[in-house]
Amino acid sequence: MATRPVRIACMRFSHETVTFLPYDTTTDDFIYEGSPARGEALLSSSPRGYMGGFVTVAREHANVELVGIESPLGSKRGSGSGWITKEAFEHFLDRMVADLKAQAPFDGAYLSLHGAMGVRGIPKPESIIARRIREAIGPDAFIVGTFDPHGNEDEEFLRYANLAFTIKYYPHYDGYLQGERAARTLIRSIRGDYVPTTATRKPPIITPSVLQWTGNSPWMDLVQRALVWEARETDVYVNFYYGFAFADVVDAGMTFQVMTNGDPELANHIADDMAQTAWRLREELYYGTEVHSIADGIGMAKEAITAGAVPVVLADHSDRSGAAIWLLDQVIKQKLSNTLIGTVADEETIETLRKRGVKPGDPFDMMVGGKLDVSAGDPVRVVGTVHTVSGGIGSRNGRTGAAGAQLWVSVKFGDGNVLVISPYLHQVTNPESFLDIGLNPDDFSVIAIKSRVHFRRGFDDNGYAKTILLVEPDQPFLGTIRLEALEYEHLKLDQFYPFGEDVTYP
Ligand SMILES: [Zn+2]
Repeated sequence: MATRPVRIACMRFSHETVTFLPYDTTTDDFIYEGSPARGEALLSSSPRGYMGGFVTVAREHANVELVGIESPLGSKRGSGSGWITKEAFEHFLDRMVADLKAQAPFDGAYLSLHGAMGVRGIPKPESIIARRIREAIGPDAFIVGTFDPHGNEDEEFLRYANLAFTIKYYPHYDGYLQGERAARTLIRSIRGDYVPTTATRKPPIITPSVLQWTGNSPWMDLVQRALVWEARETDVYVNFYYGFAFADVVDAGMTFQVMTNGDPELANHIADDMAQTAWRLREELYYGTEVHSIADGIGMAKEAITAGAVPVVLADHSDRSGAAIWLLDQVIKQKLSNTLIGTVADEETIETLRKRGVKPGDPFDMMVGGKLDVSAGDPVRVVGTVHTVSGGIGSRNGRTGAAGAQLWVSVKFGDGNVLVISPYLHQVTNPESFLDIGLNPDDFSVIAIKSRVHFRRGFDDNGYAKTILLVEPDQPFLGTIRLEALEYEHLKLDQFYPFGEDVTYP
Protein backbone atom coordinates (compact mmCIF):
# COMPACT_ATOMS: atom_id res chain seq x y z
CA MET A 1 0.00 0.00 0.00
CA ALA A 2 1.39 3.39 -0.98
CA THR A 3 1.79 5.85 1.88
CA ARG A 4 0.75 9.46 1.47
CA PRO A 5 3.74 11.57 0.45
CA VAL A 6 5.30 14.06 2.86
CA ARG A 7 4.05 17.42 1.56
CA ILE A 8 6.18 20.53 2.10
CA ALA A 9 5.13 24.07 1.22
CA CYS A 10 8.00 26.26 0.03
CA MET A 11 7.83 30.04 0.37
CA ARG A 12 10.07 33.04 0.12
CA PHE A 13 9.85 36.58 1.48
CA SER A 14 13.24 38.15 1.86
CA HIS A 15 14.55 41.68 2.19
CA GLU A 16 17.44 43.44 3.90
CA THR A 17 15.84 46.79 4.67
CA VAL A 18 17.94 49.91 5.11
CA THR A 19 15.34 51.83 7.10
CA PHE A 20 17.33 55.06 6.92
CA LEU A 21 16.76 55.43 3.20
CA PRO A 22 14.08 58.06 2.65
CA TYR A 23 11.95 56.20 0.07
CA ASP A 24 9.86 53.19 1.00
CA THR A 25 9.93 49.74 -0.55
CA THR A 26 6.51 49.22 -2.07
CA THR A 27 4.37 46.44 -3.52
CA ASP A 28 5.50 47.46 -7.00
CA ASP A 29 9.15 46.86 -6.11
CA PHE A 30 8.42 43.14 -5.76
CA ILE A 31 6.32 42.85 -8.92
CA TYR A 32 8.09 42.30 -12.24
CA GLU A 33 8.38 39.60 -14.82
CA GLY A 34 8.91 36.36 -12.88
CA SER A 35 7.86 37.79 -9.49
CA PRO A 36 5.81 36.79 -7.62
CA ALA A 37 6.62 33.17 -8.45
CA ARG A 38 4.90 29.92 -7.54
CA GLY A 39 5.13 26.23 -8.35
CA GLU A 40 8.25 25.04 -10.13
CA ALA A 41 9.19 28.65 -10.98
CA LEU A 42 9.61 29.43 -7.28
CA LEU A 43 11.43 26.17 -6.57
CA SER A 44 13.94 26.89 -9.33
CA SER A 45 14.21 30.64 -8.63
CA SER A 46 17.55 30.46 -6.85
CA PRO A 47 19.35 27.28 -7.92
CA ARG A 48 22.61 28.18 -6.17
CA GLY A 49 21.06 29.68 -3.06
CA TYR A 50 19.02 28.46 -0.08
CA MET A 51 16.09 27.37 -2.25
CA GLY A 52 18.33 25.40 -4.60
CA GLY A 53 19.92 23.47 -1.74
CA PHE A 54 16.57 22.86 -0.10
CA VAL A 55 14.93 21.54 -3.25
CA THR A 56 17.87 19.31 -4.19
CA VAL A 57 18.05 17.55 -0.84
CA ALA A 58 14.28 17.31 -0.39
CA ARG A 59 14.08 15.58 -3.77
CA GLU A 60 16.77 13.09 -2.79
CA HIS A 61 14.21 11.74 -0.31
CA ALA A 62 11.63 9.24 -1.53
CA ASN A 63 8.00 10.19 -1.24
CA VAL A 64 8.46 13.90 -0.60
CA GLU A 65 6.36 16.39 -2.52
CA LEU A 66 7.35 20.07 -2.73
CA VAL A 67 4.77 22.75 -3.48
CA GLY A 68 5.90 26.24 -4.47
CA ILE A 69 3.54 28.72 -2.78
CA GLU A 70 3.09 32.13 -4.39
CA SER A 71 5.97 34.31 -3.13
CA PRO A 72 7.61 37.57 -4.13
CA LEU A 73 11.23 37.26 -5.24
CA GLY A 74 13.76 39.94 -4.31
CA SER A 75 12.96 43.63 -4.58
CA LYS A 76 14.11 45.09 -7.87
CA ARG A 77 15.95 47.76 -5.88
CA GLY A 78 17.91 45.11 -4.00
CA SER A 79 18.37 46.51 -0.52
CA GLY A 80 18.65 50.02 -1.93
CA SER A 81 15.29 51.19 -0.62
CA GLY A 82 13.83 51.89 2.81
CA TRP A 83 11.02 50.59 5.02
CA ILE A 84 8.72 48.08 3.39
CA THR A 85 5.21 49.51 3.50
CA LYS A 86 2.68 47.72 5.68
CA GLU A 87 0.49 47.43 2.62
CA ALA A 88 3.22 45.61 0.64
CA PHE A 89 4.04 43.26 3.51
CA GLU A 90 0.41 42.34 4.11
CA HIS A 91 -0.37 42.06 0.41
CA PHE A 92 2.25 39.40 -0.24
CA LEU A 93 1.78 37.60 3.08
CA ASP A 94 -2.01 37.43 2.58
CA ARG A 95 -1.55 35.96 -0.88
CA MET A 96 0.98 33.47 0.46
CA VAL A 97 -1.35 32.34 3.23
CA ALA A 98 -4.30 32.08 0.82
CA ASP A 99 -2.30 29.92 -1.58
CA LEU A 100 -1.04 27.80 1.32
CA LYS A 101 -4.60 27.17 2.52
CA ALA A 102 -5.80 26.42 -0.99
CA GLN A 103 -3.15 23.72 -1.43
CA ALA A 104 -3.29 22.25 2.11
CA PRO A 105 -2.71 19.92 3.88
CA PHE A 106 1.03 20.10 4.53
CA ASP A 107 3.39 18.27 6.87
CA GLY A 108 5.99 20.99 6.74
CA ALA A 109 6.83 24.45 5.49
CA TYR A 110 10.07 25.99 4.30
CA LEU A 111 10.49 29.77 4.57
CA SER A 112 13.35 31.34 2.65
CA LEU A 113 13.87 34.58 4.59
CA HIS A 114 16.55 37.16 5.28
CA GLY A 115 16.00 38.36 8.83
CA ALA A 116 16.70 42.08 8.39
CA MET A 117 13.33 42.95 6.93
CA GLY A 118 11.92 46.23 8.24
CA VAL A 119 8.21 46.90 7.86
CA ARG A 120 6.51 50.15 8.87
CA GLY A 121 4.46 49.59 12.01
CA ILE A 122 5.19 45.85 12.20
CA PRO A 123 8.02 44.83 14.53
CA LYS A 124 9.77 41.48 13.94
CA PRO A 125 8.20 40.76 10.55
CA GLU A 126 9.86 37.35 10.12
CA SER A 127 8.14 36.17 13.29
CA ILE A 128 4.84 37.50 11.94
CA ILE A 129 5.42 35.50 8.76
CA ALA A 130 6.11 32.41 10.87
CA ARG A 131 3.01 33.04 13.02
CA ARG A 132 0.70 33.44 10.02
CA ILE A 133 2.12 30.32 8.38
CA ARG A 134 1.75 28.42 11.66
CA GLU A 135 -1.90 29.47 11.94
CA ALA A 136 -2.55 28.37 8.38
CA ILE A 137 -0.66 25.09 8.45
CA GLY A 138 -1.70 23.85 11.90
CA PRO A 139 0.15 23.02 15.12
CA ASP A 140 1.50 19.61 14.06
CA ALA A 141 3.39 20.65 10.95
CA PHE A 142 7.09 21.58 11.17
CA ILE A 143 8.35 24.94 9.97
CA VAL A 144 11.96 25.72 9.03
CA GLY A 145 13.45 29.05 7.98
CA THR A 146 16.74 29.94 6.32
CA PHE A 147 18.33 33.27 7.15
CA ASP A 148 21.06 35.65 6.18
CA PRO A 149 23.73 36.25 8.85
CA HIS A 150 22.70 39.91 8.73
CA GLY A 151 19.33 38.97 10.15
CA ASN A 152 18.08 40.81 13.23
CA GLU A 153 16.36 38.04 15.13
CA ASP A 154 15.49 37.08 18.69
CA GLU A 155 13.52 34.15 20.12
CA GLU A 156 10.25 35.20 18.47
CA PHE A 157 10.71 33.39 15.17
CA LEU A 158 11.31 30.08 16.92
CA ARG A 159 8.13 30.51 18.97
CA TYR A 160 6.18 29.80 15.79
CA ALA A 161 8.74 27.92 13.71
CA ASN A 162 10.71 24.85 14.77
CA LEU A 163 14.03 25.30 13.04
CA ALA A 164 16.30 27.95 11.53
CA PHE A 165 19.53 27.82 9.56
CA THR A 166 21.77 30.79 8.85
CA ILE A 167 24.58 31.33 6.41
CA LYS A 168 27.84 31.25 8.38
CA TYR A 169 30.31 33.06 6.15
CA TYR A 170 30.55 36.64 4.97
CA PRO A 171 30.84 36.80 1.93
CA HIS A 172 27.73 34.63 1.90
CA TYR A 173 29.27 31.43 0.61
CA ASP A 174 27.02 28.79 2.12
CA GLY A 175 23.42 29.59 1.25
CA TYR A 176 23.00 26.39 -0.73
CA LEU A 177 24.53 24.33 2.09
CA GLN A 178 22.16 25.82 4.66
CA GLY A 179 19.23 25.12 2.34
CA GLU A 180 20.37 21.49 2.16
CA ARG A 181 20.56 21.23 5.95
CA ALA A 182 17.15 22.86 6.32
CA ALA A 183 15.57 20.25 4.04
CA ARG A 184 17.25 17.29 5.70
CA THR A 185 16.43 18.42 9.24
CA LEU A 186 12.86 19.35 8.36
CA ILE A 187 12.18 15.94 6.80
CA ARG A 188 13.83 14.18 9.76
CA SER A 189 11.60 16.21 12.09
CA ILE A 190 8.46 15.32 10.14
CA ARG A 191 9.45 11.65 10.29
CA GLY A 192 10.09 11.82 14.05
CA ASP A 193 13.85 11.38 13.82
CA TYR A 194 14.77 14.91 14.97
CA VAL A 195 13.12 16.75 17.86
CA PRO A 196 13.93 20.44 17.35
CA THR A 197 15.08 21.90 20.67
CA THR A 198 16.48 25.40 20.53
CA ALA A 199 18.18 28.08 22.60
CA THR A 200 18.64 31.75 21.67
CA ARG A 201 21.09 34.33 23.07
CA LYS A 202 21.59 37.99 22.27
CA PRO A 203 24.87 39.38 23.58
CA PRO A 204 24.52 43.18 23.44
CA ILE A 205 26.91 43.80 20.55
CA ILE A 206 26.08 45.78 17.45
CA THR A 207 28.43 46.33 14.52
CA PRO A 208 28.25 47.82 11.03
CA SER A 209 28.49 45.26 8.24
CA VAL A 210 31.89 46.33 6.88
CA LEU A 211 33.54 45.10 10.08
CA GLN A 212 32.01 41.61 9.83
CA TRP A 213 34.26 39.95 7.26
CA THR A 214 34.63 36.34 8.42
CA GLY A 215 37.99 36.06 6.66
CA ASN A 216 39.37 38.12 9.53
CA SER A 217 39.72 37.35 13.24
CA PRO A 218 37.86 37.46 15.52
CA TRP A 219 34.84 37.08 13.23
CA MET A 220 36.55 34.04 11.74
CA ASP A 221 37.07 32.60 15.22
CA LEU A 222 33.40 32.79 16.10
CA VAL A 223 32.48 31.01 12.87
CA GLN A 224 35.12 28.41 13.61
CA ARG A 225 33.76 27.91 17.12
CA ALA A 226 30.28 27.30 15.73
CA LEU A 227 31.71 24.79 13.26
CA VAL A 228 33.58 23.00 16.03
CA TRP A 229 30.39 22.63 18.07
CA GLU A 230 28.63 21.22 15.03
CA ALA A 231 31.50 18.81 14.48
CA ARG A 232 31.88 17.52 18.03
CA GLU A 233 28.19 17.00 18.82
CA THR A 234 25.79 15.03 16.68
CA ASP A 235 22.69 16.79 15.39
CA VAL A 236 23.78 20.22 16.65
CA TYR A 237 23.43 23.35 14.52
CA VAL A 238 24.71 26.76 15.57
CA ASN A 239 23.38 29.94 13.99
CA PHE A 240 25.45 33.11 14.21
CA TYR A 241 23.58 36.25 13.20
CA TYR A 242 26.01 39.17 13.11
CA GLY A 243 23.00 41.50 12.89
CA PHE A 244 22.24 44.45 10.65
CA ALA A 245 22.69 47.90 12.13
CA PHE A 246 21.11 49.83 9.26
CA ALA A 247 17.66 48.52 10.05
CA ASP A 248 16.27 50.56 12.94
CA VAL A 249 14.35 47.71 14.54
CA VAL A 250 13.74 46.48 18.08
CA ASP A 251 15.41 43.10 17.61
CA ALA A 252 18.64 44.38 16.03
CA GLY A 253 22.07 43.19 17.10
CA MET A 254 24.02 39.97 17.37
CA THR A 255 22.16 36.70 17.98
CA PHE A 256 23.04 33.06 18.46
CA GLN A 257 20.58 30.22 18.01
CA VAL A 258 21.43 26.62 18.76
CA MET A 259 19.41 23.59 17.69
CA THR A 260 19.77 20.17 19.21
CA ASN A 261 17.93 16.89 18.83
CA GLY A 262 15.81 16.93 21.98
CA ASP A 263 18.55 18.14 24.34
CA PRO A 264 17.67 21.50 25.94
CA GLU A 265 20.64 21.42 28.31
CA LEU A 266 23.11 21.05 25.48
CA ALA A 267 21.34 23.77 23.46
CA ASN A 268 21.61 26.19 26.39
CA HIS A 269 25.21 25.26 27.12
CA ILE A 270 26.37 25.89 23.55
CA ALA A 271 24.33 29.08 23.21
CA ASP A 272 25.95 30.44 26.38
CA ASP A 273 29.38 29.42 25.17
CA MET A 274 28.94 31.22 21.84
CA ALA A 275 27.46 34.38 23.33
CA GLN A 276 30.05 34.63 26.09
CA THR A 277 32.87 34.06 23.62
CA ALA A 278 31.54 36.87 21.44
CA TRP A 279 31.33 39.11 24.49
CA ARG A 280 34.97 38.39 25.41
CA LEU A 281 36.00 39.30 21.85
CA ARG A 282 33.83 42.42 21.64
CA GLU A 283 36.62 44.96 21.44
CA GLU A 284 38.32 43.30 18.47
CA LEU A 285 34.96 42.59 16.81
CA TYR A 286 34.40 46.32 16.69
CA TYR A 287 37.84 47.86 16.38
CA GLY A 288 39.72 45.23 14.37
CA THR A 289 39.07 46.68 10.90
CA GLU A 290 40.57 49.82 9.39
CA VAL A 291 38.32 52.19 7.45
CA HIS A 292 39.69 55.35 5.79
CA SER A 293 38.16 58.58 4.60
CA ILE A 294 37.62 58.63 0.84
CA ALA A 295 40.13 61.44 0.39
CA ASP A 296 42.82 59.53 2.33
CA GLY A 297 41.95 56.31 0.52
CA ILE A 298 42.61 57.90 -2.84
CA GLY A 299 45.95 59.20 -1.60
CA MET A 300 46.83 55.70 -0.44
CA ALA A 301 45.72 54.28 -3.79
CA LYS A 302 48.20 56.63 -5.52
CA GLU A 303 50.97 55.40 -3.23
CA ALA A 304 50.05 51.80 -4.01
CA ILE A 305 50.22 52.53 -7.76
CA THR A 306 53.69 54.04 -7.32
CA ALA A 307 54.75 50.98 -5.34
CA GLY A 308 53.35 48.68 -8.03
CA ALA A 309 50.85 47.13 -5.62
CA VAL A 310 48.06 47.00 -8.20
CA PRO A 311 45.25 46.43 -8.88
CA VAL A 312 43.91 48.48 -6.02
CA VAL A 313 40.36 48.02 -4.78
CA LEU A 314 38.76 51.10 -3.29
CA ALA A 315 35.57 49.93 -1.63
CA ASP A 316 33.06 52.55 -0.52
CA HIS A 317 31.29 50.35 2.00
CA SER A 318 28.85 52.98 3.16
CA ASP A 319 26.79 53.67 0.03
CA ARG A 320 23.38 52.15 0.67
CA SER A 321 21.45 53.67 -2.21
CA GLY A 322 24.07 52.96 -4.87
CA ALA A 323 23.81 56.58 -6.01
CA ALA A 324 26.57 58.04 -3.85
CA ILE A 325 29.03 60.22 -5.75
CA TRP A 326 31.72 60.75 -3.08
CA LEU A 327 34.20 58.33 -4.57
CA LEU A 328 33.57 59.55 -8.14
CA ASP A 329 33.91 63.14 -6.98
CA GLN A 330 37.28 62.50 -5.32
CA VAL A 331 38.58 60.48 -8.28
CA ILE A 332 37.90 63.55 -10.43
CA LYS A 333 39.19 66.11 -7.90
CA GLN A 334 42.38 64.21 -7.05
CA LYS A 335 42.90 63.29 -10.72
CA LEU A 336 43.22 59.59 -10.14
CA SER A 337 43.94 57.87 -13.44
CA ASN A 338 43.25 54.45 -14.91
CA THR A 339 40.34 53.91 -12.55
CA LEU A 340 37.23 51.87 -13.16
CA ILE A 341 34.28 53.11 -11.12
CA GLY A 342 31.45 50.62 -10.81
CA THR A 343 28.81 51.64 -10.23
CA VAL A 344 26.93 54.87 -9.66
CA ALA A 345 23.20 54.15 -9.68
CA ASP A 346 21.15 56.73 -11.56
CA GLU A 347 17.84 55.54 -12.96
CA GLU A 348 16.93 58.97 -14.30
CA THR A 349 20.12 59.39 -16.31
CA ILE A 350 19.77 55.86 -17.67
CA GLU A 351 16.20 56.63 -18.81
CA THR A 352 17.34 59.86 -20.49
CA LEU A 353 20.07 57.94 -22.29
CA ARG A 354 17.64 55.21 -23.28
CA LYS A 355 15.29 57.77 -24.85
CA ARG A 356 18.20 59.30 -26.73
CA GLY A 357 19.13 55.93 -28.20
CA VAL A 358 22.56 56.09 -26.58
CA LYS A 359 25.40 54.33 -28.38
CA PRO A 360 29.16 53.90 -27.92
CA GLY A 361 31.15 56.89 -29.15
CA ASP A 362 28.45 59.45 -28.31
CA PRO A 363 29.79 62.51 -26.53
CA PHE A 364 28.74 62.55 -22.87
CA ASP A 365 28.24 65.60 -20.66
CA MET A 366 25.78 64.99 -17.85
CA MET A 367 25.25 65.38 -14.14
CA VAL A 368 25.47 61.88 -12.69
CA GLY A 369 24.38 60.22 -9.45
CA GLY A 370 23.39 61.77 -6.14
CA LYS A 371 19.89 63.17 -5.65
CA LEU A 372 18.29 60.17 -3.91
CA ASP A 373 19.08 61.41 -0.44
CA VAL A 374 21.68 63.37 1.46
CA SER A 375 23.98 60.34 1.70
CA ALA A 376 24.12 60.13 -2.10
CA GLY A 377 25.34 63.73 -2.40
CA ASP A 378 24.82 66.15 -5.27
CA PRO A 379 25.15 65.02 -8.88
CA VAL A 380 28.64 65.26 -10.34
CA ARG A 381 29.37 66.55 -13.83
CA VAL A 382 31.09 63.97 -15.99
CA VAL A 383 32.40 64.93 -19.41
CA GLY A 384 33.65 62.21 -21.69
CA THR A 385 32.57 59.67 -24.29
CA VAL A 386 30.05 56.84 -24.07
CA HIS A 387 32.20 53.72 -23.97
CA THR A 388 29.85 50.73 -23.67
CA VAL A 389 26.09 50.18 -23.71
CA SER A 390 24.90 46.86 -22.37
CA GLY A 391 22.29 44.88 -20.48
CA GLY A 392 24.35 45.14 -17.31
CA ILE A 393 26.29 42.76 -15.09
CA GLY A 394 24.64 39.35 -15.16
CA SER A 395 23.03 39.90 -18.56
CA ARG A 396 25.37 37.46 -20.28
CA ASN A 397 24.08 34.68 -18.07
CA GLY A 398 20.54 35.25 -19.23
CA ARG A 399 19.70 37.22 -16.14
CA THR A 400 15.99 37.26 -15.48
CA GLY A 401 13.73 38.72 -12.86
CA ALA A 402 14.47 41.87 -10.96
CA ALA A 403 17.63 42.67 -12.84
CA GLY A 404 16.35 41.61 -16.26
CA ALA A 405 16.23 43.93 -19.25
CA GLN A 406 18.33 46.70 -17.75
CA LEU A 407 20.35 49.27 -19.60
CA TRP A 408 23.83 50.05 -18.27
CA VAL A 409 26.11 52.66 -19.77
CA SER A 410 29.81 53.23 -19.22
CA VAL A 411 31.57 56.51 -19.91
CA LYS A 412 35.26 57.15 -20.60
CA PHE A 413 36.65 60.29 -18.99
CA GLY A 414 39.84 61.83 -17.64
CA ASP A 415 43.08 59.88 -17.89
CA GLY A 416 41.95 56.34 -18.69
CA ASN A 417 38.99 56.35 -16.29
CA VAL A 418 35.71 54.60 -16.90
CA LEU A 419 32.50 55.24 -14.97
CA VAL A 420 29.76 52.62 -15.01
CA ILE A 421 26.21 53.94 -14.59
CA SER A 422 23.54 51.41 -13.57
CA PRO A 423 19.82 51.98 -12.98
CA TYR A 424 19.92 50.49 -9.47
CA LEU A 425 22.37 49.72 -6.70
CA HIS A 426 24.82 47.02 -7.73
CA GLN A 427 27.60 45.53 -5.66
CA VAL A 428 30.37 44.25 -7.88
CA THR A 429 31.64 41.09 -6.21
CA ASN A 430 34.17 39.84 -8.74
CA PRO A 431 36.32 41.45 -11.44
CA GLU A 432 35.16 39.09 -14.21
CA SER A 433 31.64 40.46 -13.91
CA PHE A 434 32.83 43.62 -15.68
CA LEU A 435 33.32 41.47 -18.80
CA ASP A 436 29.50 41.25 -18.96
CA ILE A 437 29.41 44.95 -19.79
CA GLY A 438 32.34 44.89 -22.18
CA LEU A 439 35.04 46.08 -19.78
CA ASN A 440 38.25 44.25 -19.00
CA PRO A 441 39.11 44.82 -15.33
CA ASP A 442 42.75 43.99 -16.04
CA ASP A 443 43.02 47.24 -18.03
CA PHE A 444 42.76 49.33 -14.85
CA SER A 445 45.06 50.10 -11.92
CA VAL A 446 42.23 50.95 -9.55
CA ILE A 447 38.77 49.46 -9.27
CA ALA A 448 36.43 51.61 -7.22
CA ILE A 449 33.33 49.76 -6.08
CA LYS A 450 30.41 49.97 -3.68
CA SER A 451 30.79 46.98 -1.44
CA ARG A 452 31.51 46.13 2.16
CA VAL A 453 32.60 42.53 2.27
CA HIS A 454 30.93 40.76 -0.66
CA PHE A 455 33.75 41.81 -2.99
CA ARG A 456 36.27 39.72 -1.04
CA ARG A 457 34.83 36.75 -2.92
CA GLY A 458 36.31 37.79 -6.24
CA PHE A 459 38.91 40.42 -5.40
CA ASP A 460 40.57 39.17 -2.22
CA ASP A 461 40.06 35.45 -1.54
CA ASN A 462 41.77 34.62 -4.85
CA GLY A 463 44.62 37.14 -4.46
CA TYR A 464 43.45 39.35 -7.36
CA ALA A 465 43.76 42.73 -5.64
CA LYS A 466 47.18 43.63 -4.28
CA THR A 467 45.83 46.53 -2.24
CA ILE A 468 42.43 46.79 -0.59
CA LEU A 469 41.22 50.03 0.95
CA LEU A 470 37.90 50.38 2.75
CA VAL A 471 36.63 53.94 2.61
CA GLU A 472 33.67 56.05 3.65
CA PRO A 473 32.79 59.76 3.30
CA ASP A 474 33.79 62.28 5.97
CA GLN A 475 30.16 62.89 6.88
CA PRO A 476 28.68 60.02 8.89
CA PHE A 477 25.95 59.13 6.41
CA LEU A 478 23.59 56.24 6.89
CA GLY A 479 26.07 53.51 5.94
CA THR A 480 28.77 54.78 8.29
CA ILE A 481 30.68 52.79 10.87
CA ARG A 482 29.91 55.66 13.25
CA LEU A 483 26.53 54.32 14.29
CA GLU A 484 26.18 56.95 17.01
CA ALA A 485 25.56 59.46 14.22
CA LEU A 486 22.38 57.68 13.11
CA GLU A 487 19.00 58.71 14.45
CA TYR A 488 17.60 55.48 15.79
CA GLU A 489 14.02 55.40 17.06
CA HIS A 490 13.41 51.72 17.77
CA LEU A 491 16.89 50.40 18.36
CA LYS A 492 18.35 51.59 21.66
CA LEU A 493 22.01 52.08 20.81
CA ASP A 494 23.06 52.74 24.40
CA GLN A 495 22.08 49.19 25.30
CA PHE A 496 24.85 47.86 23.06
CA TYR A 497 28.60 47.63 23.21
CA PRO A 498 30.48 49.86 22.36
CA PHE A 499 27.88 52.63 22.53
CA GLY A 500 26.40 52.35 26.01
CA GLU A 501 28.24 53.48 29.15
CA ASP A 502 28.14 50.30 31.20
CA VAL A 503 26.77 47.54 29.05
CA THR A 504 27.32 44.16 30.67
CA TYR A 505 26.77 40.54 29.73
CA PRO A 506 25.44 38.10 30.73
ZN1 LIG B 1 23.92 39.55 4.38
